[in-house]
Amino acid sequence: MKLCPCGSSLPRRDLVDARGIFCAFVCDFCEPHKRACYRPEIFTDPNYWTDEPIETGGLPMSEKTIAIILIGPGGELDRKKIIVNDDDDMSETSVAICNAIEEAMEEWVLSPGDTIKIEEISEQ
Ligand SMILES: [Zn+2]
Repeated sequence: MKLCPCGSSLPRRDLVDARGIFCAFVCDFCEPHKRACYRPEIFTDPNYWTDEPIETGGLPMSEKTIAIILIGPGGELDRKKIIVNDDDDMSETSVAICNAIEEAMEEWVLSPGDTIKIEEISEQ
């Protein structure tokens, strides 16, 4: 049995969406964190992509800042910020956020009880 890449020493399993598409390796410890960076409907609605309007206009790209915040029992311990294109395909944004979470989880020493919060912050 292979262990989860998050470092928890728990066995890994596949996190798949409603269409059976592989999203990430997860365990009991990191599954809530990793799920947090996908839209919830991809796990419940197999048609999640087809019912979305596709924008092909030439709108200027706008950016948004996403903070990945590590919260311990006593409050915030650390945070990382990434900038993603707001107009991007949601799946690309999700991938960027997931990669950032995975990087953060490699760097942070997580203890049971710590949580990771994803927050969109506005910074102009
Ligand atoms: Zn894990």
